[in-house]
Amino acid sequence: MTNPNDPFDLRELHNADIPLPEGLESNIAATSLSRIYNWSRSRSTWPLLFGLACCAIEMIATASARYDMSRFGMEVMRASPRQADLLIVSGTVTKKMVVPIVRIYNQMPEPKYVIAMGACASGGGPFKEGYNVVSGIDKYIPVDVYVPGCPPTPQALMHGFLTLHKKMEGQQLFQRNSTPWYSRGPADEVPLPVLGPDIVDPRQAEILRHQAEDAASQPEPSVEAGD
Ligand code: SF4
Repeated sequence: MTNPNDPFDLRELHNADIPLPEGLESNIAATSLSRIYNWSRSRSTWPLLFGLACCAIEMIATASARYDMSRFGMEVMRASPRQADLLIVSGTVTKKMVVPIVRIYNQMPEPKYVIAMGACASGGGPFKEGYNVVSGIDKYIPVDVYVPGCPPTPQALMHGFLTLHKKMEGQQLFQRNSTPWYSRGPADEVPLPVLGPDIVDPRQAEILRHQAEDAASQPEPSVEAGD
């Protein structure tokens, strides 16, 4: 039987296909390296101390004693991207802010994860058509989990953490496409967007150039006398 005072139960890790002697189920685990690696990583995720707008208040509330992120081993919010492996994009992403967000993301070491918290970070939210707002941070960096709401409650964010844990637990240590950060060579950086009169993603440069050439080759609309 599980000791209710002991938060660590080896049955979380044990492969149920392997029988164990009766009475030792809480003390012995036969498991795979991938499973223990994923379990360790998902129970010690360190989020970046970073917030953008109203959603950040709910993220801060999630870290308070009432909701208690430390139950997930997440209470250490790091002030440096180099020591964090989870970016919670909590709030409206303006075109001005997307540049530092991408820079911060590039500075985080692999393996790293991103949660888009709330309607703004997921798709622009109530400001979607605004001249200064990006329609979702996933236009620039890969997002692992979307948490809906405006704002999402702390419970919703915690559900996002559990969803992220499930994703981590499905990763296989010995499959390159599942854990690409163990491939040879450095990971590709996301190119920094360029902020001018509008925000430009360098990865879209070729498409934008073709669109500009097409627009320039169109005949000028004629103006009728009397118009
Ligand atoms: S989703 Fe709603 S609560 Fe969150 S940052 Fe946008 S406007 Fe604020």
